[in-house]
Amino acid sequence: MNVLIGNNIASVRKRMFEACSRAVREPSEVRLLAVSKTKSVSEIKAAAEQGLTDFGENYLKEAVDKIDSLNDLPLSWHFIGQLQSNKTRIVAEKFAWMHTLSSIKAARRLNEQRPESQPNLKVLVQVNVSQDAKKSGIPPDDLFEFLEGLMSFRRLDLRGLMTLPTLSYSFESQRIPFTILRELLEASQQRYSNELNEFDQLSMGMSADLEAAIVEGATWVRVGTDIFGDRG
Ligand SMILES: *Cc1c(COP(=O)(O)O)cnc(C)c1O
Repeated sequence: MNVLIGNNIASVRKRMFEACSRAVREPSEVRLLAVSKTKSVSEIKAAAEQGLTDFGENYLKEAVDKIDSLNDLPLSWHFIGQLQSNKTRIVAEKFAWMHTLSSIKAARRLNEQRPESQPNLKVLVQVNVSQDAKKSGIPPDDLFEFLEGLMSFRRLDLRGLMTLPTLSYSFESQRIPFTILRELLEASQQRYSNELNEFDQLSMGMSADLEAAIVEGATWVRVGTDIFGDRG
């Protein structure tokens, strides 16, 4: 039993719970994605022993080894890194969720490569709400066109939006990009009420800003450092 990881998870859960109270949201609406990039199989097992089931990975090479060695546990894997379109097969075959979709080419390949034996791949579109040239994701103005480009892909379930904003320090400034992402989700739901069902997920908020994200409607918070410690 890893006491440190256990304590860390308890305190992240407490923060999530308090943010839900503040936002008058049900705690069950917000799920915790444990970001395990660079962390070992035994650290992931320690987190799984605390009841965590969903793990996020950024680097495919290390992810595959970990996924294969943990395949006796009922875990769901989420890809949250930058995807090169020649690496889509690994995501199509090994992951349940893809949070960082921002290219039609990658989407087409994921759709083709998703094995018949598996349920559809759940995808979130990454939006560059901070309009930061260093961040990936599609610009907000291109979102509708991008969503329309994805609608024919039968093996992808379009579930919502994701963002990775430039870090800011005050609660109020942290909220700004999360407000924008929530409004983009709502606008997409309205515009495509016939085409998109279950388009209701917001992947936003990390160790430093999960409270602001929850107040703005996050359904997934992606937490690495505050669960597993610094990545060194
Ligand atoms: C690494 C990473 C996280 C986790 O960040 P922490 O600050 O360690 O909680 C969340 N989302 C993405 C996309 C990441 O790459």
